[in-house]
Amino acid sequence: MTLSADELMVSRRGQNIIDGVDISLELGNLSAVIGPNGAGKSTLLSALAGDLEPTKGSITVDGKPIEHFSPSNLAKVRSVMYQSNNIVFDFLVEEILIMGWIRDTFGRSPFAIKAVSELAEICGVSELLGRSFLTLSGGEKQRVQFCRALVQLWRPDQEFGPRYLLLDEPTSNLDVSYELGVLEILKDMTEKETGVLVVLHDLNLASYFSDRIYLMNKGRVFACGEPSEVIRSDTLSDVYGTPISVEDRNGKLHVYTH
Ligand code: ADP
Ligand code: MG
Repeated sequence: MTLSADELMVSRRGQNIIDGVDISLELGNLSAVIGPNGAGKSTLLSALAGDLEPTKGSITVDGKPIEHFSPSNLAKVRSVMYQSNNIVFDFLVEEILIMGWIRDTFGRSPFAIKAVSELAEICGVSELLGRSFLTLSGGEKQRVQFCRALVQLWRPDQEFGPRYLLLDEPTSNLDVSYELGVLEILKDMTEKETGVLVVLHDLNLASYFSDRIYLMNKGRVFACGEPSEVIRSDTLSDVYGTPISVEDRNGKLHVYTH
């Protein structure tokens, strides 16, 4: 079971901003996408989510072309958290989380309320449920959006089936303890028949938590593989255009700039 991109190409204004990308996200796998600003990470994520139509190439979910899914069936198997929090209306946090619920009925079913309270606890947003979203800090908003993405894929313990979670820099506004918390939650999700693809800026986090890393540069996958194959001084210095060192300390990679 995989979410795959094959020979993916996205062109804008005569330029290929995604240029021949192959990706295969397996269940039980946490893959990170890293790379400099403008490398094409967000565009790739939108295409993989089925929200942006590629110029060429194909996206398949468990072997089926993504465009053959109805929006509601697609929403049941894949959830996306984008970079921006562009909610402009004044909803309560609990209402936003309930909106993530797309299963049996829309709105406040008993199941929805159970899922929301369970996941709000896990994501550390229980105290925010009664707050207006617009009054939250950037980090609090990001934690709520993260929780909403999980609500969409929630299912009872005994129910199985593939799920894919795609997240674009979900920790960019979080302090270090919440940042680790999010990655730990994502790692737990991989134990429950979920494939996770996460765009990360922090190379240390990416190397510590990922099973596989895709290093993007100028619309292409420059390198991919296990962290030790990608998180290398020569590769990273080349792509980021600045000296980057990598040290192996007791099997754990440490990345730093000079
Ligand atoms: P990243 O997330 O890696 O920073 P993006 O995927 O957001 O990169 O963007 C990749 C490149 O494509 C950038 O140079 C960006 O300016 C360009 N780009 C993205 N979306 C569009 C668009 N709709 N029209 C034109 N150029 C775009
Ligand atoms: Mg981006």
